[in-house]
Amino acid sequence: MHGDTHPTALKVLQAVFGYDSFRGPQQAIIEHVMAGGDALVLMPTGGGKSLCYQIPALLREGTAIVVSPLIALMQDQVAALKQNGIKAAYLNSSLDYHEAVEVENQLRAGDLDLLYVAPERLATARMQMLLEQTRIALFAIDEAHCVSQWGHDFRPEYRQLSQLHQRFPQVPRIALTATADVPTRGDIMEHLQLQEAALYNSGFDRPNIRYHIAENQGNAKEQLLRFIREHHDGEAGIVYCLSRRKVEETAIWLERQGLTALPYHAGLPAEQRQQHQTRFLREDGVVVVATIAFGMGIDKPDVRFVAHLNLPKSIEAYYQETGRAGRDGLPANAWMAYGLQDVITLRQMQQDSSAADQQKRIEQQKLDAMLGLCEIISCRRQALLHYFGDHLDAPCGNCDNCLTPPETWEATVAAQKALSCVYRTEQRFGVTYLVDVLLGKSNERITRFGHDRISTFGIGKELTANDWKALFRQLIASGYLSVDMEGHGGIKLTANAKPVLRGEHPLTLRKPSHKPSKAKAARRGSKGASATHSHGPLWEALRQHRRELAEAQGVPAYVIFHDATLAELVEQNPQSLEALGAISGIGARKLADYGEGFLDVILTHQATEQTN
Ligand code: ADP
Ligand code: ZN
Repeated sequence: MHGDTHPTALKVLQAVFGYDSFRGPQQAIIEHVMAGGDALVLMPTGGGKSLCYQIPALLREGTAIVVSPLIALMQDQVAALKQNGIKAAYLNSSLDYHEAVEVENQLRAGDLDLLYVAPERLATARMQMLLEQTRIALFAIDEAHCVSQWGHDFRPEYRQLSQLHQRFPQVPRIALTATADVPTRGDIMEHLQLQEAALYNSGFDRPNIRYHIAENQGNAKEQLLRFIREHHDGEAGIVYCLSRRKVEETAIWLERQGLTALPYHAGLPAEQRQQHQTRFLREDGVVVVATIAFGMGIDKPDVRFVAHLNLPKSIEAYYQETGRAGRDGLPANAWMAYGLQDVITLRQMQQDSSAADQQKRIEQQKLDAMLGLCEIISCRRQALLHYFGDHLDAPCGNCDNCLTPPETWEATVAAQKALSCVYRTEQRFGVTYLVDVLLGKSNERITRFGHDRISTFGIGKELTANDWKALFRQLIASGYLSVDMEGHGGIKLTANAKPVLRGEHPLTLRKPSHKPSKAKAARRGSKGASATHSHGPLWEALRQHRRELAEAQGVPAYVIFHDATLAELVEQNPQSLEALGAISGIGARKLADYGEGFLDVILTHQATEQTN
């Protein structure tokens, strides 16, 4: 198809995908690729990267070859495309020989709009031959950052993709990723030979995610449960923990509280991991409790929250993990509880690490940045984006610090007391001991070391034990104190402590939060984003119908309709097939396949409402 491409692309968007209009740079990218140009697309998760190659795939002659690193991801994408009546297939190791040959025949016959291929497969002689016999519309290279050794998703097979350009110089290529820091971007351009490609950079912001970093008040699990019950009852989420043991414990505990919570970590049998992942994708409202091993390639759009019960090691890790929430663009929460113990554990882990000095220093800097993010009193999103070299003019209004500005206090004197207590006890003790000394608690150990006779004994009675712990956490987090590497957890002064002790460096710190009273906890309930949909009976009825359709076909529920589409159905309450077709996310094919069924649910619901 040729001529004026722009109305055609829009028509496809509306008729096939059921969406009204393009988002952000989608239209510009599509036009560029349609015209045969190469493109490098940096767009945050949930930004709508897929349409940038799917629409040109439908409009250009031939088949689009999509390189995608993960089998699970391919399968879901192909399932979703087929729901929209698009001719799509994949070639990967999950197919048996006959199934693969069948797909190859379809490709040769020109029967496919899109073919998803694993990168290692693309390099095989068989595949190369097949491509020679095929009319190729374009190459799309998804998760293009896998070509870079810089990040943690490096896939050596991606390096061979530069051959595509050499063998098929006329075919446009579009590389896409959500990971776009400067070194990664450079690697992509170099290794995929995209130096001449048009660059589309939409930045990193995920405005629909609300960031919330809470202090661990001694029982993070209960804080988590309260958060889930208040904001995410019956919704899907991921809870990250640092250790396998904590994963298991937390999952069991949440189950006992009545949630559907499944553990996921590298120590579980592969079969069980697979099963838990599938349930998370297919069922509504499953919470997965996981180590970081979970999430890569999870393309579930309706993950409503990501919670951290431990501090991640870097802002990169934090952003990637929290980024798995709210891909569908609806409100989502990133919630974390962190405390003194997290800071100590991570500092120690780092010092014990066997990494080379240079690497250690990088890890240290990354952790410092993460700790800084936890302790800041200004907008979290501005800080996050700044870290990635992005800029946000005004505070975001959608993070905890923006919504409830934290109180601060003049902490210089208290910090001086804490620091000199470390000094007077010879920099050998942990926080619990130091706090006891400050509070003037006499116990066997303190007497034995004679620390009940030093000048800092009992000089801190104006604060509670918890306040002192929070202060020590902040002093460690901001680098005034360090944790002993011999593993005893002894706290030491750093060079930065001196100016504070001498009174040359005043400290204003975030006030420690206290356990909320019951009444306060209830009022706080309004914090945290809730999805826009109501949880009324119509919503439930629509979800139930969607679940039945999904189960019958063995696909995830969101492949039938996204939550956003169901929410719009509740809101618009369409009374005819025509009105139903105007809802976002309902294209021609889905209207034909599911229109009657969902209309029936709506009308039946109305009838029962009226008789009640
Ligand atoms: P990414 O790959 O960038 O993470 P996707 O391509 O999966 O994002 O798109 C994220 C979500 O946004 C999907 O649910 C998709 O259907 C939806 N979407 C994309 N473009 C549009 C649009 N123009 N209008 C409405 N929804 C869109
Ligand atoms: Zn903010």
